[in-house]
Amino acid sequence: MAENGHVAPEAAMGDEAQAQALADAEALYRIRHSMAHVLAQAVCEIWPDVRLGIGPPIADGFYYDFDLGPDEDGRPRSFTPDDLVALEARMREIIKGRHAFEVREVSADEARQAFAAQPYKVELIDALSAGSVDENGQPLAEGAAPAITIYRQDAFEDLCRGPHVPHTGYLKPNAFKLLSTAAAYWRGDEKRPMLQRIYGTAWQRKDDLDAHLLHLEEVERRDHRRIGKDLDLFSTAPDSVGGGLILWHPDGALIRHLIEDFAKQRHLAGGYDLAYTPHIGRSVLWETSGHLDFYKDGMYPPIEFDGQEYYLKPMNCPFHIMIYKSRRRSYRELPVKLAEWGTVYRYERSGTLHGLLRVRGFTQDDAHIFVAPEGVDAAIAEVLDFSLDMLEAFGFHDFKVNVSTRPPEKAVGAIEDWDRATASLIAAVTARGIDYAIKEGEGAFYGPKIDIDVRDALGRAWQLSTIQFDFNMAERFELTYTDDQGQLRRPYMVHRALLGSMERFFGVLIEHYGGAFPVWLAPVQAMVIPITDDLADYGHQVAGRLRAAGLRASVDDRSDRMKAKIRDAQMRKIPYMLVVGRREADQDQVAVRLRTEEDLGAMPLDAFIARAQAAIAERADVL
Ligand code: ZN
Repeated sequence: MAENGHVAPEAAMGDEAQAQALADAEALYRIRHSMAHVLAQAVCEIWPDVRLGIGPPIADGFYYDFDLGPDEDGRPRSFTPDDLVALEARMREIIKGRHAFEVREVSADEARQAFAAQPYKVELIDALSAGSVDENGQPLAEGAAPAITIYRQDAFEDLCRGPHVPHTGYLKPNAFKLLSTAAAYWRGDEKRPMLQRIYGTAWQRKDDLDAHLLHLEEVERRDHRRIGKDLDLFSTAPDSVGGGLILWHPDGALIRHLIEDFAKQRHLAGGYDLAYTPHIGRSVLWETSGHLDFYKDGMYPPIEFDGQEYYLKPMNCPFHIMIYKSRRRSYRELPVKLAEWGTVYRYERSGTLHGLLRVRGFTQDDAHIFVAPEGVDAAIAEVLDFSLDMLEAFGFHDFKVNVSTRPPEKAVGAIEDWDRATASLIAAVTARGIDYAIKEGEGAFYGPKIDIDVRDALGRAWQLSTIQFDFNMAERFELTYTDDQGQLRRPYMVHRALLGSMERFFGVLIEHYGGAFPVWLAPVQAMVIPITDDLADYGHQVAGRLRAAGLRASVDDRSDRMKAKIRDAQMRKIPYMLVVGRREADQDQVAVRLRTEEDLGAMPLDAFIARAQAAIAERADVL
């Protein structure tokens, strides 16, 4: 990586610190993996007839899937909160036993014999011996059939590749917790049995566990589905509208409007042209684009009329290409930059849908850039700057960029084009001095790309922006422009989604801000709170003047006590509460309280308006 002029943060840590970080990660992996086995042993001891699924370590913890058979109503029996408590106690006993983890290699037949009472394990052994999956059911590269190994601790055996800690005494009885349960289909397949998954977390030290549990509480508190309901921002209606299809309620719709309005102004100022395109297009379009070859699983079945098949669009690209192709293009007008807030529909399995983050219908802030090869460096530098500036405007300042390069086997386009495009991506991030990593060979077959991850207020990474070259569609649609010699040449085509999708971005934004949006995005910016009923008139006058100054203001003129009204406005995360009593009314003032509970005291109404307008103009996070 050094030859790219890039210093990875790990390198900056020094060899010793880096070695320690790796050792910690390896230790945590072993601890969590071992803990999954201890959990499975505990379940087997309490429910001897349980059928075991898989139990891998995951980020921050582990899980294990179980089939407890049917309950009295014939539904899959699930674990209760009491069960989890009993299991934790049982796991502590097992840990105390300091049982060694012992491994042995077996033939497929021996493995089938060892797990004769475990049908899911036998299915995995069959697939393992056929070389198609690993022991966690994950697909393997062809011809990679691994040896089958069994790990045992105490009287419990599991199909497993390891590695583990030497014995259960390495696990800390006070540094793990079973967190939750969830239904999970066997091998993620809706047509297979539904198993019960137990999630747990495990750490090297109790302090680490406590810190993690606090983090989880904060994650839970900021869950965009909960805040979306509390603040009445959006909903879904799976039983009537359909899962993964978002209903934007007025306050959520207002925020989206503000985001789009701001973004569109920025795009126009940045030399983009706007486009609107249809939601459906004929099958020939999707054949030409290659979507029906490469992306059919993500598309809905066709609609047929007038003897033609039409498909709901999963992407906007072919339409933008048709706009580009609608006339001859000269080198003089390149780059052509077409932007659309285009709503697309993609098939996602119902089990994977998640609030605003994983949906079936969403609006991309999509742009396609058609550029001459010699103009590509400037165009990429500009689109990267544009993207980062925009993300910063939404309160994200910590970026990580990944550059994915040419995959080793299948790739379309000339090597020179790949090299040139990849070099311009790397030059753009290097010039900006941002931290980046090369993902060697991980580009799509049709071109290299940059992904931009942002870190939110809880330190979580979200991938938002993508800048993706496409040598495939430019070829398939035979895109051309006339160069300065009058020759027809092929432009480079770049897909760019900036915030990604409006739905997902809104979900990320809700969690980033915990619902306390900066003033410029707050649906109600100021709530006027008259202390007594006879001050309602003055309150409405204040609100009228705020609205005339371009602020979104309401009056809480209910006959509630002031304290209750303030609490209510705080719950709604309204930035400013303007309390008005007799003295304020007499002196044309308002007493300003912030949702952070800070009390700014009384100030002239005009002074407050100036303050709020400044915060809005700066799109400031602070009030
Ligand atoms: Zn596209």
